[in-house]
Amino acid sequence: MNDNDLMHTLAREGVIQVAGLLPLLMQFRRDVCFGVKGLDGHYRLANPGMERLLCQGGGDLPGKSESELVPVDLREALERCEQRIRDGAATASEEIELALNGQPGLYLCLKFAILGADQKLQSIAAMICESSAPQIGTALQQRLDSLQHANQKLQREVVELEEAAGTDKLTGAWNRRRLAEYLLGEMARFERYQHPLSLLILDIDFFKAVNDQHGHGTGDQVLQLLTQLLQSGLRGTDALARWGGEEFVVLCPDTNRTTAAMLAERLRELIANARFPVIEQLTISIGVAECGAGESWDEWLQRADEALYRAKAGGRNRVQLAAAANQPDGAADTNDYVLGNFVQLVWRPAYECGDEAIDHGHQLLFADANELLSAILSGHEPEQVDAIVDRLLADLRKHFQDEEAIFVAAAYPDASAHIAMHRQLIEQSLQMAAAYHAGTQGVGDVFKFLAHDVVTKHLLGNDRKFFDHLRRSRAASADAG
Ligand code: GH3
Ligand code: MG
Ligand code: MG
Repeated sequence: MNDNDLMHTLAREGVIQVAGLLPLLMQFRRDVCFGVKGLDGHYRLANPGMERLLCQGGGDLPGKSESELVPVDLREALERCEQRIRDGAATASEEIELALNGQPGLYLCLKFAILGADQKLQSIAAMICESSAPQIGTALQQRLDSLQHANQKLQREVVELEEAAGTDKLTGAWNRRRLAEYLLGEMARFERYQHPLSLLILDIDFFKAVNDQHGHGTGDQVLQLLTQLLQSGLRGTDALARWGGEEFVVLCPDTNRTTAAMLAERLRELIANARFPVIEQLTISIGVAECGAGESWDEWLQRADEALYRAKAGGRNRVQLAAAANQPDGAADTNDYVLGNFVQLVWRPAYECGDEAIDHGHQLLFADANELLSAILSGHEPEQVDAIVDRLLADLRKHFQDEEAIFVAAAYPDASAHIAMHRQLIEQSLQMAAAYHAGTQGVGDVFKFLAHDVVTKHLLGNDRKFFDHLRRSRAASADAG
């Protein structure tokens, strides 16, 4: 192995210390003997200078140890040096007497630690040069001093290295730094391609009380389990970062605010339904904001933070959606549902039964449910949300009446069973609305019930049972007429 190969191998193997010495070694490599030993004491690599020095009878150095090559007094000096490295020093040096090329003289032996990626001692580098060679001796000593200084910083740097690794020690979630890197790329993509980009800021409710009542250790466990649960509820491209104490940020690429709000609602529900050790239950509040064109991270985060504040002020265990950038909070934002995908109830021609009054009623209920969701998520005043809920209920009742009149007139055989279903749904939706107003049901529960149980399941499920009957009876009366 020539000097250059050796240097490159070292550069690959070594961490901070070797990298710090490389320029010097390159400069003096003809005069410096250099090698690397494994922790078993055997050399693994050596440059020709070191090989000549230690294997005076010829042969290769790799695979051999100093104890089999050098006289006892010299060996003791080298071992002393090495012991200091094993004890944790970054570098250690000894002056030794050597006869190199038949010329006895004073040499400087320098050993230093090569750390693995885990920051543990991986191997030991050995360097021997003429102590009297002034330029090398001084340069090496200076280098040594600066290395020792660097090593003192190492402990502090380990913390930074963890930072650089990008994860939070307690929870394993990304740290701020990693998030910032991801964010930079995603914001650039957003500027360039206008793919929507949303963020969630999530804060544990009354977390201080968990620590106060059950101790910090329990608090830590809660944070860990919470992180696992959140990760399990996210999609592959969403990034979860611990933003500070009990606050987390989720960055959602290719996600508009409506979809992000539904994701937030899913996470809120997931946590509210989970069982935590010792404390049993825990809730979180979430603010959601979609990045606006030309908006900075600080402005965007600020809007999400304000939404979080509203979620806390509104009673916690809830999701609040910031208005679109450049729009006042709570402003109607119908465009969301043009873009929004899975939260919008999309009316399709296949849902029609052909009876104008029934189809109109169904479409109206779809629109009501969508409006309700928009209002809830946009943080409208409770009275406004109440008004929409009331209107939805009135529309529902009116529709049920119209529909009942139509299928009774058409002599639908299961009319009474279907009417009973209507009664039950009206009853349930009244209870649901009351629970929502009382704060015992979250917005997600209300929406799920109204949109999915009433509108989607009933209108698009049970109602189909009489569609065929209506069609047949209409065809029969057309024939008769
Ligand atoms: P709110 O619903 O208004 O958010 O109330 P809160 O009690 O959650 O909020 P507050 O900001 O008053 O308290 C946050 C607590 O989180 C206080 C702090 O001790 C705790 N905390 C922050 N980081 C850690 C951590 O790493 N481990 C533990 N166990 N607790 C932490
Ligand atoms: Mg807090
Ligand atoms: Mg909190």
